[in-house]
This record gives sequence, C-alpha cells and structure tokens, in this order.
Amino acid sequence: VGFTGGEPTLHPEFEKILIGLAKYRKRLSVFQIITNGINFKNILPVLLWFRKRFPRVRIHFSVDGTKAGHDRIRGKNTYDKTIEAMTLCRKRKIDFAIQMVLHRHNEQEIEDVMDLALNFKAKLCKVYPALPTPALLEEDIVLSFKEAEEALSRASRSIERFIEKQNESSRIDLLAKYVYAYCAWLGSITPININYKGEVTFCSNLSNFVGETEDRPDVLGSLREASVISLCERHINLVATFTKDRLKNIQSKKLILPGYETCLVGCLYCMRYFKKFNHTKICEDYGIFI
Ligand code: SF4
Repeated sequence: VGFTGGEPTLHPEFEKILIGLAKYRKRLSVFQIITNGINFKNILPVLLWFRKRFPRVRIHFSVDGTKAGHDRIRGKNTYDKTIEAMTLCRKRKIDFAIQMVLHRHNEQEIEDVMDLALNFKAKLCKVYPALPTPALLEEDIVLSFKEAEEALSRASRSIERFIEKQNESSRIDLLAKYVYAYCAWLGSITPININYKGEVTFCSNLSNFVGETEDRPDVLGSLREASVISLCERHINLVATFTKDRLKNIQSKKLILPGYETCLVGCLYCMRYFKKFNHTKICEDYGIFI
C-alpha cells in the first residue's frame, strides 16, 4: 500500500487511516508514503506506532534541488522541513529514499540532491523528468525531449562519479533512467490506484488533472458502487485494450519509442490516450502523434 499526493500526510484523518491499515498488516507486503516532509514531525508518533506493528515502512521524500530551488516550488522554508524530516528518519532508523523531479529550473542541481542523499544515507535516490502538469506548462519549465535526454545522461555521469565515492557501508542506489516506457502499472502484476473520491483509476499519474472534464476514460468506477474484484476485472480489460491500441500505434508510427533510456514517453502517451493532455507540440516532441 502506498499513499501519494498532493501531500498525503496533510489528510485530516491520516492517523485514523494508519490505525485502520494496521488491522490488515498480515496482508501487506510494504507500506510507503511519498511526501515532501512538511508535516512529518506531526505524523511521526503514529508512524512509529504503525512501524512497531509493521516494520516494512518506506518513506520517499520529494526534493527539488537546493534550498532556493526547493523553496521556490514548494514555499518558503519547506526545504528545512524536509531536512528536519530526514534527520528524524535517521534518528529513528526509518528507511527513506529521495526523489527529484527535473525541470528547467533545477536540472543543474542533480548533484546537490545526490550529495544530500549520500550525506543522509538515503536508501535510494532517483531522478526523472517532470510530467507536464498545467502549472509547469504555465511556467514554461517542462523539459523538451532533447533537454530531458541531456539531463538524464548528465545524471548518469554523476552517478558514476558518486559510485566511486561510496564505500560498501554507505552504499545507496542512484537511478536516473526511470523508465516509464513500459511500467509496473501495465505489467503482469497490476497495482490499483484509489483516488480521494474512492474511485479506482488506471494509474495514479493520471489522477485528478487540473481542468479535467467529466469524460474520464481512466476511471474504472467507484468502490461505493462496485466491488474491488469487479473493478480489478475492468482494470485488466482496460489494460488489454490499451496495450492492443498501443501496439497498433507503434506499428503505424503514431507512437515512436526512441529507446529505453527515454523516460516520460510512456506517461505522456497515457496522458494523451486518456484525454488528459492536449498539448500537441510537446507530444510530438516526444514522438507521440495520436
Ligand atoms: S501514466 Fe501510464 S506509463 Fe505512466 S506510470 Fe501510469 S500507466 Fe505507467
């Protein structure tokens, strides 16, 4: 089970939800939260309570670069809160990862974030380009295909240098080839995403786009009206249709997959396929012509 956002730790019933989840701990394999750490101090008591009952807790902190860059995106002093949260994790021996989403303002700060991950002994640091959300498009900071490729190869080169610096006891995994070209959501073990309205949807990356209309072909139905099993069946059927269409589009060159190091193409294709995104220029830049 994983909680994503917005910022899931700000949910007014976060504590109640975690206590409820603990009842099902025998059926969990892992529990993870993606957070910017802004409310971490407040949720720590319930998180520690939960961890006593279910030890496989993973925290993923979103870091957007240096303090200046991070605060510019997330608000004043938010970086300090993330650092405080990571310090608390280290003190309490809670495993955590760092993830960085690249855009035009922070693509030069990859090494700063990797340094941070090494200093705090994060378990993992992964870097990938930002999806073109309406806010990022408005600011005109979404990386073009070429820029994304260059940023990722720079990140790969930094990783090589960082690997040399690491010793066995402080080893962390650094990833800069976060491939969405064919992702877990479309693989043989299909996770399900439940949005804040209790609807099961195709993938969390497609949830709750600003300005989306009533026509949401990625929504499989609400748990208030259908059972989990029947919604999973709908999901499997939709993945099958999606996959056949995708294959046809690859064959007719409406979708060009330039290589496995090219992340973002898969998600952009989904955004286009499910009518979340109509920015033709960006899609074509990434080889999507549907
Ligand atoms: S948007 Fe599509 S490619 Fe991206 S993670 Fe979701 S299902 Fe996978």
